[in-house]
Amino acid sequence: MTRIYLSAPHMGGLEEEFVSQAFRSNWLSSVGPNIDGFEQEFEAVVGIRAVALSSGTAALHLALRLVGVSTGEEVFCPTLTFVASANPVRYLGGEPVFLDSERDSWNLDPNVLEDALRRSRKRPKAVVVVHLFGQTANLDPIISLCDRYGVPLVEDAAEALGATYKGRPAGTFGAVSVFSFNGNKIITTTGGGILATRNTAWLDKARFWSQQARDPGVAYEHSEMGFNYRMSNVLAGIGRGQLKMLDERVRQRRTIAFRYRDAFAHVDGMDFMPQAPWGLHTNWLSCFLVDEVRIGCSRDHIIQSLAARDIEARPIWKPMHKQRLYATARVYGGSVAEDLFERGICLPSSSFLDEETQGRVIDAVLSAVARGRPRARAAGGES
Ligand SMILES: *Cc1c(COP(=O)(O)O)cnc(C)c1O
Repeated sequence: MTRIYLSAPHMGGLEEEFVSQAFRSNWLSSVGPNIDGFEQEFEAVVGIRAVALSSGTAALHLALRLVGVSTGEEVFCPTLTFVASANPVRYLGGEPVFLDSERDSWNLDPNVLEDALRRSRKRPKAVVVVHLFGQTANLDPIISLCDRYGVPLVEDAAEALGATYKGRPAGTFGAVSVFSFNGNKIITTTGGGILATRNTAWLDKARFWSQQARDPGVAYEHSEMGFNYRMSNVLAGIGRGQLKMLDERVRQRRTIAFRYRDAFAHVDGMDFMPQAPWGLHTNWLSCFLVDEVRIGCSRDHIIQSLAARDIEARPIWKPMHKQRLYATARVYGGSVAEDLFERGICLPSSSFLDEETQGRVIDAVLSAVARGRPRARAAGGES
């Protein structure tokens, strides 16, 4: 039996042909037809213009620079996220300020945002909203707060390609937004990202910065500092093939998530990640909350039991305000994110996971729960 990973790449079959075209035509650099094609096809799918970059992190770096983040500036960011949502603020000399989550979506809590905007002495240079695990944040109140306070919204849609909010795709709401094609995301270029915006001047600027900010003309002249952040034409070929599979991948991820939900429906203390009513949750990762007392064992006991059977499961993201890296950062609230982190588990969610293989995961969870953990069982029994 082979190891079951959390979220592995899933090729559709067309990728190799696009990659071969790059080899045959010798477009083996950061220019070429696959990059142009990938950007155009992305626009056709998501409805927003895009620049293909080397990673989602690079895209966030440029997005934050576009909205003017610089030394000493603050950026509001949810504390419950992957570290790449926050680090680019520091790349620019700014400081992230961390905000708590809401239980309905696990994403940025609009009430905490309002409180932070009202109480903060300094207006933040941007608000980063993250759509975790394939589900959008509650965008309407967030957008109206950003409008009221005149703060640009940056959407980190790295985990939410294919998700919607009130029928509109994630990543089309912010002043600028970013996507990731890292190997574990819903589609992949092995590594890559996209910056998307309706602001065409910004789009050109991001493309310019991503190619070392070389001024027009034949000589190597530079008036601004740039980066080497462009996507390779080979990898863009993988992206073109992957993009054609997106709808199917969303269906598959959702099927997997709801199969887990049904399998654990009778397990008291194993609660499915909320599916907020405002949009389509892709369930990029299938997530649950484990209630140690009700279920009779710890979340980590389940993760360890799965690991013993060569099945990869993980806690959800550890909040940024609990990271040593961000020990000095300001934070508004944080107890909801901490509670979600202590109880949250991500189960194997690869889109190729068939029913039989997923059955192995389900059996492993059920038997871990049945065996329980003496300590937790005693605590539950005595209370
Ligand atoms: C994956 C991810 C990123 C970073 O994307 P990379 O392409 O890996 O650099 C940023 N934010 C979130 C929320 C992510 O999950």
